Amino acid sequence: MQNSKDNSTLCGYCKLTGSRILYPVNDIFGNFFMLNQCDHCKAYFISPRPDEAMLSRAYDDTYYGSKEEKFKSPLVEKVLDSFRMGRARRLGRMLKPGSNVLDIGCGNGRFLKYLLNYGNFTLNGTELAGNSANRASRLSEIQLKTGTLGKGDFGKGSMDAVTMFHVFEHLAEPQQTLDIVDEILKSGGIFMASFPNIASLQSRMFKGRWLHLDPPRHLFFFAPDDFIRMMKTRGYELKKTTWISTEQNPYGFVQSFLNSILKKREVLFERLKGNTVYAPEYGKFSILMQKIVFLALFPIFILTDYASGLLKNSATVEFIFIKH
Ligand SMILES: [Zn+2]
Repeated sequence: MQNSKDNSTLCGYCKLTGSRILYPVNDIFGNFFMLNQCDHCKAYFISPRPDEAMLSRAYDDTYYGSKEEKFKSPLVEKVLDSFRMGRARRLGRMLKPGSNVLDIGCGNGRFLKYLLNYGNFTLNGTELAGNSANRASRLSEIQLKTGTLGKGDFGKGSMDAVTMFHVFEHLAEPQQTLDIVDEILKSGGIFMASFPNIASLQSRMFKGRWLHLDPPRHLFFFAPDDFIRMMKTRGYELKKTTWISTEQNPYGFVQSFLNSILKKREVLFERLKGNTVYAPEYGKFSILMQKIVFLALFPIFILTDYASGLLKNSATVEFIFIKH
Protein backbone atom coordinates (compact mmCIF):
# COMPACT_ATOMS: atom_id res chain seq x y z
CA MET A 1 0.00 0.00 0.00
CA GLN A 2 2.93 2.32 0.73
CA ASN A 3 3.51 5.01 -1.87
CA SER A 4 0.68 3.80 -4.07
CA LYS A 5 -1.09 6.32 -6.26
CA ASP A 6 -4.36 8.10 -5.57
CA ASN A 7 -5.78 9.61 -8.74
CA SER A 8 -9.20 10.57 -7.43
CA THR A 9 -8.82 12.62 -4.22
CA LEU A 10 -8.61 16.40 -4.56
CA CYS A 11 -5.64 18.04 -2.87
CA GLY A 12 -6.96 20.38 -0.17
CA TYR A 13 -4.46 23.04 -1.16
CA CYS A 14 -4.20 23.24 -4.96
CA LYS A 15 -7.47 21.36 -5.73
CA LEU A 16 -5.84 19.07 -8.27
CA THR A 17 -5.95 15.27 -8.27
CA GLY A 18 -2.89 13.05 -8.35
CA SER A 19 -1.14 12.20 -5.09
CA ARG A 20 0.93 9.53 -3.36
CA ILE A 21 -0.58 7.55 -0.47
CA LEU A 22 1.88 7.49 2.43
CA TYR A 23 0.43 5.91 5.57
CA PRO A 24 -2.79 5.44 7.58
CA VAL A 25 -3.99 7.90 10.25
CA ASN A 26 -6.76 7.37 12.82
CA ASP A 27 -8.39 10.14 14.82
CA ILE A 28 -9.76 9.94 18.36
CA PHE A 29 -13.35 9.74 17.06
CA GLY A 30 -12.81 6.46 15.22
CA ASN A 31 -12.41 7.97 11.74
CA PHE A 32 -9.82 6.50 9.38
CA PHE A 33 -7.74 8.49 6.88
CA MET A 34 -4.66 8.14 4.72
CA LEU A 35 -1.92 10.73 4.58
CA ASN A 36 -1.33 11.68 0.96
CA GLN A 37 1.20 13.97 -0.66
CA CYS A 38 0.11 16.00 -3.67
CA ASP A 39 2.21 15.48 -6.82
CA HIS A 40 1.67 19.10 -7.88
CA CYS A 41 1.97 21.48 -4.90
CA LYS A 42 3.72 19.00 -2.52
CA ALA A 43 1.13 19.56 0.22
CA TYR A 44 0.49 16.63 2.56
CA PHE A 45 -3.17 16.13 3.37
CA ILE A 46 -5.45 13.64 5.07
CA SER A 47 -7.70 11.76 2.70
CA PRO A 48 -10.66 11.62 2.47
CA ARG A 49 -11.12 15.23 3.49
CA PRO A 50 -12.97 15.37 6.84
CA ASP A 51 -16.61 16.37 6.37
CA GLU A 52 -18.45 19.14 8.22
CA ALA A 53 -19.87 16.79 10.86
CA MET A 54 -16.40 15.42 11.71
CA LEU A 55 -14.94 18.90 11.97
CA SER A 56 -17.71 20.46 14.03
CA ARG A 57 -17.48 17.54 16.45
CA ALA A 58 -13.70 17.96 16.70
CA TYR A 59 -13.96 21.72 17.27
CA ASP A 60 -16.94 21.73 19.60
CA ASP A 61 -15.88 23.39 22.87
CA THR A 62 -18.83 21.96 24.71
CA TYR A 63 -18.50 18.40 23.44
CA TYR A 64 -16.68 17.28 26.56
CA GLY A 65 -18.22 19.92 28.79
CA SER A 66 -14.78 21.56 28.87
CA LYS A 67 -14.26 24.75 30.80
CA GLU A 68 -13.43 28.11 29.31
CA GLU A 69 -9.69 27.59 29.79
CA LYS A 70 -8.32 24.88 27.53
CA PHE A 71 -6.16 23.58 30.35
CA LYS A 72 -7.45 24.15 33.84
CA SER A 73 -4.24 24.74 35.70
CA PRO A 74 -3.18 28.37 36.23
CA LEU A 75 0.41 27.13 36.09
CA VAL A 76 -0.13 25.80 32.56
CA GLU A 77 -1.67 29.14 31.55
CA LYS A 78 1.40 30.93 32.97
CA VAL A 79 3.73 28.70 30.98
CA LEU A 80 1.67 29.27 27.81
CA ASP A 81 1.84 33.01 28.48
CA SER A 82 5.62 32.84 28.56
CA PHE A 83 5.58 31.29 25.07
CA ARG A 84 3.16 33.97 23.85
CA MET A 85 5.57 36.58 25.24
CA GLY A 86 8.42 34.93 23.29
CA ARG A 87 6.48 35.22 20.04
CA ALA A 88 5.56 38.82 20.88
CA ARG A 89 9.24 39.61 21.51
CA ARG A 90 10.37 38.09 18.20
CA LEU A 91 7.83 40.17 16.27
CA GLY A 92 7.63 43.28 18.48
CA ARG A 93 11.32 44.05 18.10
CA MET A 94 10.86 44.24 14.31
CA LEU A 95 7.81 46.55 14.33
CA LYS A 96 7.86 50.30 13.87
CA PRO A 97 5.82 52.47 16.29
CA GLY A 98 2.18 52.71 15.28
CA SER A 99 2.24 49.49 13.23
CA ASN A 100 -1.03 47.86 12.26
CA VAL A 101 -0.95 44.15 13.16
CA LEU A 102 -3.37 41.32 12.36
CA ASP A 103 -3.24 37.94 14.11
CA ILE A 104 -5.30 35.40 12.15
CA GLY A 105 -6.71 32.85 14.60
CA CYS A 106 -5.75 35.04 17.55
CA GLY A 107 -7.11 32.65 20.21
CA ASN A 108 -7.65 34.45 23.49
CA GLY A 109 -5.76 37.50 22.19
CA ARG A 110 -2.96 37.37 24.72
CA PHE A 111 -0.16 37.21 22.13
CA LEU A 112 -1.45 40.46 20.59
CA LYS A 113 -1.69 42.09 23.98
CA TYR A 114 1.93 41.19 24.81
CA LEU A 115 3.00 42.99 21.63
CA LEU A 116 2.16 46.23 23.42
CA ASN A 117 5.27 45.66 25.58
CA TYR A 118 7.23 46.60 22.45
CA GLY A 119 5.38 49.73 21.37
CA ASN A 120 2.08 51.33 20.59
CA PHE A 121 0.46 49.25 17.87
CA THR A 122 -3.02 48.83 16.45
CA LEU A 123 -4.10 45.28 17.21
CA ASN A 124 -6.50 43.30 15.03
CA GLY A 125 -7.50 39.67 15.43
CA THR A 126 -9.76 37.08 13.87
CA GLU A 127 -11.00 34.02 15.73
CA LEU A 128 -13.80 31.54 15.18
CA ALA A 129 -16.79 31.88 17.50
CA GLY A 130 -16.24 30.10 20.81
CA ASN A 131 -14.58 30.42 24.17
CA SER A 132 -11.29 31.84 22.84
CA ALA A 133 -13.08 34.52 20.82
CA ASN A 134 -15.16 35.42 23.89
CA ARG A 135 -12.00 35.93 25.89
CA ALA A 136 -10.33 37.98 23.15
CA SER A 137 -13.45 40.15 22.84
CA ARG A 138 -12.97 41.24 26.45
CA LEU A 139 -9.57 42.78 25.65
CA SER A 140 -10.42 46.36 24.70
CA GLU A 141 -7.06 46.87 22.91
CA ILE A 142 -8.02 44.34 20.22
CA GLN A 143 -10.35 44.91 17.30
CA LEU A 144 -11.75 41.43 16.92
CA LYS A 145 -13.50 39.92 13.94
CA THR A 146 -15.30 36.75 14.99
CA GLY A 147 -15.26 34.24 12.13
CA THR A 148 -12.92 33.47 9.24
CA LEU A 149 -10.83 36.09 7.49
CA GLY A 150 -12.71 37.26 4.41
CA LYS A 151 -11.76 39.27 1.36
CA GLY A 152 -12.36 42.95 2.07
CA ASP A 153 -12.24 42.65 5.87
CA PHE A 154 -9.12 44.82 5.87
CA GLY A 155 -7.90 47.42 3.38
CA LYS A 156 -5.38 46.75 0.65
CA GLY A 157 -1.86 47.30 1.99
CA SER A 158 -3.24 48.26 5.41
CA MET A 159 -1.17 45.85 7.55
CA ASP A 160 2.44 46.16 8.70
CA ALA A 161 2.41 42.60 10.01
CA VAL A 162 0.18 39.55 9.71
CA THR A 163 0.68 36.51 11.95
CA MET A 164 -0.71 32.96 11.97
CA PHE A 165 0.44 30.66 14.75
CA HIS A 166 -0.56 27.04 14.21
CA VAL A 167 -3.49 28.16 12.09
CA PHE A 168 -2.44 27.46 8.51
CA GLU A 169 -2.91 23.68 8.81
CA HIS A 170 -6.51 24.20 10.01
CA LEU A 171 -7.71 26.48 7.20
CA ALA A 172 -10.46 25.27 4.89
CA GLU A 173 -9.24 27.55 2.08
CA PRO A 174 -5.53 28.09 2.73
CA GLN A 175 -4.66 29.45 -0.71
CA GLN A 176 -7.42 32.02 -0.48
CA THR A 177 -6.18 33.06 2.98
CA LEU A 178 -2.62 33.56 1.67
CA ASP A 179 -4.06 35.59 -1.24
CA ILE A 180 -5.81 37.85 1.29
CA VAL A 181 -2.58 38.17 3.32
CA ASP A 182 -0.76 39.19 0.10
CA GLU A 183 -3.38 41.85 -0.51
CA ILE A 184 -3.63 43.42 2.95
CA LEU A 185 0.09 43.36 3.74
CA LYS A 186 2.15 46.44 2.87
CA SER A 187 5.28 46.13 0.78
CA GLY A 188 8.04 45.57 3.35
CA GLY A 189 5.47 44.11 5.75
CA ILE A 190 6.08 41.09 7.95
CA PHE A 191 4.37 37.70 7.63
CA MET A 192 5.02 35.41 10.60
CA ALA A 193 3.66 31.86 10.66
CA SER A 194 4.24 28.62 12.53
CA PHE A 195 3.02 25.11 11.83
CA PRO A 196 3.88 21.43 12.38
CA ASN A 197 6.87 20.21 10.40
CA ILE A 198 5.79 17.15 8.43
CA ALA A 199 9.43 16.58 7.38
CA SER A 200 10.56 16.47 11.03
CA LEU A 201 12.29 13.62 12.78
CA GLN A 202 9.17 13.16 14.97
CA SER A 203 6.87 12.95 11.97
CA ARG A 204 9.11 10.41 10.22
CA MET A 205 9.53 8.34 13.39
CA PHE A 206 5.91 8.18 14.46
CA LYS A 207 4.10 8.51 11.09
CA GLY A 208 0.32 8.16 11.63
CA ARG A 209 0.79 8.22 15.41
CA TRP A 210 2.46 11.64 15.44
CA LEU A 211 0.66 14.00 17.81
CA HIS A 212 0.92 17.03 15.52
CA LEU A 213 -1.00 15.30 12.72
CA ASP A 214 -3.96 16.08 15.00
CA PRO A 215 -6.61 14.51 12.77
CA PRO A 216 -9.22 15.58 11.71
CA ARG A 217 -8.42 19.22 12.56
CA HIS A 218 -5.16 19.47 10.63
CA LEU A 219 -6.12 19.30 7.00
CA PHE A 220 -2.73 19.62 5.35
CA PHE A 221 0.97 20.28 5.88
CA PHE A 222 3.98 21.56 3.97
CA ALA A 223 7.61 20.55 4.41
CA PRO A 224 9.47 23.75 5.41
CA ASP A 225 11.51 23.87 2.18
CA ASP A 226 8.37 23.57 0.05
CA PHE A 227 6.64 26.30 2.07
CA ILE A 228 9.62 28.65 1.71
CA ARG A 229 9.68 28.01 -2.05
CA MET A 230 5.97 28.74 -2.27
CA MET A 231 6.32 32.00 -0.33
CA LYS A 232 9.24 33.07 -2.53
CA THR A 233 7.02 32.58 -5.58
CA ARG A 234 4.50 34.84 -3.85
CA GLY A 235 7.15 37.53 -3.47
CA TYR A 236 8.38 37.02 0.08
CA GLU A 237 11.89 36.81 1.44
CA LEU A 238 12.68 34.56 4.41
CA LYS A 239 14.08 36.60 7.28
CA LYS A 240 14.16 34.25 10.26
CA THR A 241 13.40 30.63 11.12
CA THR A 242 12.82 29.42 14.68
CA TRP A 243 13.08 25.66 15.03
CA ILE A 244 13.17 25.18 18.78
CA SER A 245 9.79 25.22 20.53
CA THR A 246 9.62 24.09 24.14
CA GLU A 247 5.88 24.80 23.84
CA GLN A 248 5.19 22.31 21.05
CA ASN A 249 8.02 19.89 20.46
CA PRO A 250 8.88 18.01 23.69
CA TYR A 251 5.27 17.17 24.54
CA GLY A 252 4.77 16.21 20.89
CA PHE A 253 7.56 13.70 21.30
CA VAL A 254 6.29 12.20 24.56
CA GLN A 255 2.64 11.99 23.46
CA SER A 256 3.63 10.50 20.08
CA PHE A 257 5.74 7.95 21.96
CA LEU A 258 2.75 7.07 24.17
CA ASN A 259 0.57 6.89 21.04
CA SER A 260 2.95 4.36 19.53
CA ILE A 261 2.88 2.02 22.53
CA LEU A 262 -0.83 2.35 23.41
CA LYS A 263 -3.75 1.22 21.24
CA LYS A 264 -5.28 4.71 21.17
CA ARG A 265 -3.79 8.11 20.42
CA GLU A 266 -3.68 11.22 22.66
CA VAL A 267 -5.09 9.44 25.73
CA LEU A 268 -3.11 11.48 28.26
CA PHE A 269 -3.42 14.74 26.34
CA GLU A 270 -7.20 14.41 26.05
CA ARG A 271 -7.48 13.54 29.76
CA LEU A 272 -5.43 16.61 30.69
CA LYS A 273 -7.78 18.72 28.57
CA GLY A 274 -10.65 17.48 30.73
CA ASN A 275 -12.02 14.96 28.21
CA THR A 276 -13.46 12.19 30.38
CA VAL A 277 -15.48 10.57 27.58
CA TYR A 278 -12.60 9.36 25.40
CA ALA A 279 -10.84 6.04 26.03
CA PRO A 280 -12.44 5.13 29.40
CA GLU A 281 -10.59 1.77 29.29
CA TYR A 282 -7.49 3.63 30.48
CA GLY A 283 -8.13 3.87 34.20
CA LYS A 284 -6.53 5.91 36.96
CA PHE A 285 -3.48 3.67 37.21
CA SER A 286 -2.73 3.77 33.47
CA ILE A 287 -3.11 7.56 33.42
CA LEU A 288 -0.80 7.86 36.42
CA MET A 289 1.81 5.72 34.63
CA GLN A 290 1.44 7.84 31.49
CA LYS A 291 1.94 10.98 33.57
CA ILE A 292 5.09 9.50 35.09
CA VAL A 293 6.44 8.61 31.63
CA PHE A 294 5.56 12.11 30.50
CA LEU A 295 7.33 13.85 33.38
CA ALA A 296 10.36 11.56 33.16
CA LEU A 297 10.85 11.99 29.41
CA PHE A 298 9.89 15.66 29.04
CA PRO A 299 13.25 17.11 30.16
CA ILE A 300 15.11 14.70 27.87
CA PHE A 301 13.03 15.85 24.93
CA ILE A 302 13.68 19.50 25.74
CA LEU A 303 17.34 18.63 25.12
CA THR A 304 16.65 16.59 21.98
CA ASP A 305 14.55 19.52 20.70
CA TYR A 306 17.65 21.72 20.89
CA ALA A 307 19.55 19.07 18.92
CA SER A 308 16.67 18.86 16.39
CA GLY A 309 16.78 22.66 16.15
CA LEU A 310 20.43 22.56 15.15
CA LEU A 311 19.63 19.88 12.56
CA LYS A 312 16.58 21.88 11.37
CA ASN A 313 14.25 18.92 11.71
CA SER A 314 12.17 20.03 14.73
CA ALA A 315 8.54 19.01 15.07
CA THR A 316 7.27 22.54 14.48
CA VAL A 317 8.70 25.58 12.73
CA GLU A 318 8.13 29.34 12.84
CA PHE A 319 8.98 31.59 9.91
CA ILE A 320 9.29 35.34 9.55
CA PHE A 321 8.99 36.53 5.94
CA ILE A 322 9.25 40.03 4.53
CA LYS A 323 7.01 40.96 1.62
CA HIS A 324 8.78 42.61 -1.32
ZN1 LIG B 1 -1.77 20.12 -4.25
